[in-house]
Amino acid sequence: MITNFVSPRLLMMGGGSIGQAAAVLGQFGLSRPLVVTDPWMVSSGTVEKLLAPLKAGGIKYGVFSDTVPDPTDTVIATGVTAMQAGDYDCLIGFGGGSPMDTAKAMTILAAAPAGAKMRDFKVPAQANKAALPVICIPTTAGTGSEATRFTVITDTETDEKMLIAGLGALPLAAIVDYELTFSVPPRTTADTGIDSLTHALEALVSRRANPESDEYALRAMRLIGPNLRTVYQDPKNAAAREAMMKGATLAGLAFSNSSVALVHGMSRPIGAHFHVPHGLSNAMLLPAVTAYSLNAALPRYAEAARAIGVAGRDEGDQSAGAKLLEELSALNRELAVPTPAAYGIDAAKWDGLLPTMAAQALASGSPANNPAVPDAEAVIALYRRAWQG
Ligand code: NAD
Repeated sequence: MITNFVSPRLLMMGGGSIGQAAAVLGQFGLSRPLVVTDPWMVSSGTVEKLLAPLKAGGIKYGVFSDTVPDPTDTVIATGVTAMQAGDYDCLIGFGGGSPMDTAKAMTILAAAPAGAKMRDFKVPAQANKAALPVICIPTTAGTGSEATRFTVITDTETDEKMLIAGLGALPLAAIVDYELTFSVPPRTTADTGIDSLTHALEALVSRRANPESDEYALRAMRLIGPNLRTVYQDPKNAAAREAMMKGATLAGLAFSNSSVALVHGMSRPIGAHFHVPHGLSNAMLLPAVTAYSLNAALPRYAEAARAIGVAGRDEGDQSAGAKLLEELSALNRELAVPTPAAYGIDAAKWDGLLPTMAAQALASGSPANNPAVPDAEAVIALYRRAWQG
C-alpha cells in the first residue's frame, strides 16, 4: 500500500524561536518577505516581535495587515495585488489561523492563470501550485494551520466557508513559539484550544486515519487534555501554554494527514452564516456530534479518553467512551461555551437556514470521513441538538 505523509520542511518549536526568523529565511535562501498579518497585530505592537528580528538580520520586508477573521476571497484578491506590487520572494503568515490561511490562499491564487477565483480551488479540486513559499508563525494554539495542507476561505457571493486543500497550502516552514500566546484572551484561548482538541479527536476517529496520523493525534491529546483548563484559568502558565502550542501543531499534522470529520463539516456553515469564531462553533457541536458518533468507533473514542486523561489506561471501552462524553460537556461548561442561542443567534434565522447548512456541511466532504455518516436529516437533527446545548 502506498501512503503519503506531508509536513513543512522545517518545524521550529520552542520559546523565543521567533528570534530565529531571519535565520530560518536564510536557510532557504529567502530574503524579501511580505508579512501577512491582522490589524490587531500591528495596533498592539505584537508584529514587532517578528519585525525586530527580521530588521536585525538585515531583511527588508513589506507588511500586508488587511486580513480579516475567517478570510474572504475579496481580501485574498487584495493581498495578491499587494504581493505582486513588490519584489517579494516569500510570504510570512503571522497571527492566528486567519492571517496564516490568508497567506496560503494568496500564494495559491497568485500561481493561477489571470481571472481565476478562490472558488476554483474548493475541494475536491487540488490546490497544488504556489507562487511563493509561505512561512507560518502562529500566535494562537490553535488551528494547526502552520502544519497543514489546508486553507479555509469564505466565498463572499455565497457566504460559504470553502475548504481548499493541496500542497500549495502546505507551508515551507513554521516557527512555533508559545511565548506569542501569553496575550491571547481567555475566550479565544478556550475556543482555539477546543479547536485543537477537535482536530486531534477527528483525525483519530476519521475513516482516513492511518497509523502515522494516529501517533500525532494521540500525542496532541496527551498534551491538550491536561492543559486546556489551565491556560484558560492561568494565561501566564508557561508550561501549559507550551504544551497547548505543541499540541495544536501536532494536531495539525494529524488531521492534515488523516482528515477532519463531521464536527468541522457542520461548523463551517455556522461560521459563514453567523460569524461565530471557528473554535467556538466546533465547541458548540463537539458533545452532540461525539455522542452521535460514539458507537460507530467506540474503541477509538475510548483511546482518545485515555489519551486526554479522563479514563484509566486499563479502563474498558464502554466506560471510557462514556467518560469522554462527560468530559466534553464539562469542558464546555467550565470554559463557558455558549449555546448558539446564548451567543445571540436568531432562532428563526437558524431554523430557516438549517437545510442550507446541512447541504453545505455534506458538500464539504468532511462528514463522509466521520465514523457514522449522516444524511441531511440527521445533520439537521444534530444542529437542533446543539442549539439546546
Ligand atoms: P483568528 O486568526 O481569526 O484570530 C482570532 C482573534 O485573536 C483575532 O482578533 C486576533 O487578532 C486575535 N489574536 C491572535 N493571536 C493573538 C495573540 N497572540 N494575542 C492576542 N490576540 C490574538 O483565529 P484562529 O482561531 O486562530 O483562526 C481561525 C481561522 O483559521 C478560521 O478562518 C478557520 O477556518 C481557520 N482554520 C484553518 C485551518 C487550516 O488547516 N488551514 C484549520 C482550522 C481553522
